[in-house]
Amino acid sequence: MTDAFEQQHQVLLTASPLQRVGGFALAALAKVGHPEQLTVEQFTTATTTMTRHLLATSDVAKAADAGGFWLSASYMLWPNSKIIPTARGKQSPAERRELIAQWRDMPDSAEWPGVPCAYCDRPACKWFGKVDIPLGASSEHRNTTAPGHEGTPLCFPCVACLWAFPYGAELSGGRAAAVHSWDDVFLAPVTRMAVQRTLAAAQAPASKTKLGPYARELAVLNAVRAYGQRVHSGVELIVLSNSNKEQFLRTQEMSQPIVEWLRSTATKTNRRTGYQALVAAQAAKAVPGEAFLAKRAFGDPAAILFRTTAHLLDRVSAKGGIPVEATGLAPLLYSYCIEVLNMDEKDVTRIRDLARRLAALLGQDSRPGPFGGFMRANTKGGDLYGWFRSQSVQWLLKTRPAGMPQTLLPVEDYRLLFDDDRAWSHRRLLVFAVMEALVEAGWEPKGSAEELEDIADVAANLPEDDKD
Ligand SMILES: [Zn+2]
Repeated sequence: MTDAFEQQHQVLLTASPLQRVGGFALAALAKVGHPEQLTVEQFTTATTTMTRHLLATSDVAKAADAGGFWLSASYMLWPNSKIIPTARGKQSPAERRELIAQWRDMPDSAEWPGVPCAYCDRPACKWFGKVDIPLGASSEHRNTTAPGHEGTPLCFPCVACLWAFPYGAELSGGRAAAVHSWDDVFLAPVTRMAVQRTLAAAQAPASKTKLGPYARELAVLNAVRAYGQRVHSGVELIVLSNSNKEQFLRTQEMSQPIVEWLRSTATKTNRRTGYQALVAAQAAKAVPGEAFLAKRAFGDPAAILFRTTAHLLDRVSAKGGIPVEATGLAPLLYSYCIEVLNMDEKDVTRIRDLARRLAALLGQDSRPGPFGGFMRANTKGGDLYGWFRSQSVQWLLKTRPAGMPQTLLPVEDYRLLFDDDRAWSHRRLLVFAVMEALVEAGWEPKGSAEELEDIADVAANLPEDDKD
């Protein structure tokens, strides 16, 4: 075996997420832990398995027929490739097999272009184009096409990884969705499970189950929460279609801190307790709570805090008081603010202390009015500063619980709420902390239904995010 031959059968992981997912998929097909551990024989076994799957479609008339999984996937993954030529309908199975084998065979070394692989720098075996390189993989290397050449030079193991990528993805709804992370220890089992699912789907009768809202994001959330070790990098969700009808690519990242925090909601007892309440708080009309939680974990982490508080407040009228879930949610929300939203632990402590003073002030009155007044001051048009100014006098005049300071809003607290980049998040945390402190104090508003309903109006008018 020459070195050059061996090189063309050894996977090297590169900076391309799709190539990496494909590498781990090849390893899974050969039942090996890490792609770079694949021997020449194991690599060959994996590529031969993929070719065998494609060859099996040569007896299938149409993509929708039994055994047509890879045929159907080809329109989305490898348009214009030799598995689905325009003249396919007129070809015999033998002719189809011949074309597929040609496509997937390693080019003879005499035909190699003499340029390095765009991914790994080792000698390329051929120029490849859109047929073999999915959109997400080509966009990373847009500039590598040499003048006068069509395509991108790749070595055989790199192109084999791209061919294997769909095995490590979920193929549904006309798109391929893959999970990627730079943490190999996490990527290996996640890709292995995806490969098992793909192999099972290829055997099953064709089905067109409609995906639920944010189903792909939810699958990542579930994978993360079920994972038993620390994850050292963020987790990306790559959704793409290479089809002629629709070129589509979207990459979203769930940051490492939120990944770890989500894991902690499954592993830490005090966080596990409130998780269902957190999930319920995220739900919207047509979107189940956990799916929306997953969506926000990717694109809008601050919204998780904002939605949870608005939801609690919204339920005050229905429950005739502050929902007791506030207590169970506390360990989740405070840790979320510190670990994900990057709030200082001492700032969170300040906000909680301030909330206890406010609860002592508002809790003196059993009517819901004063509570509603504070909440209203937090809405988009509310004057929270004005509210504090008037209440500071009250605080001075009224009897304070022992040990509480004379100043309601010290300068440091003022800065957190009114003069800070994260002022809106701090205010929202304060809204939550006041509710938590009132529940702790056993406060229950005695008021008319209308007064309580006013509070639901307040919930609807709280700012939706940090930019409001
Ligand atoms: Zn390469």
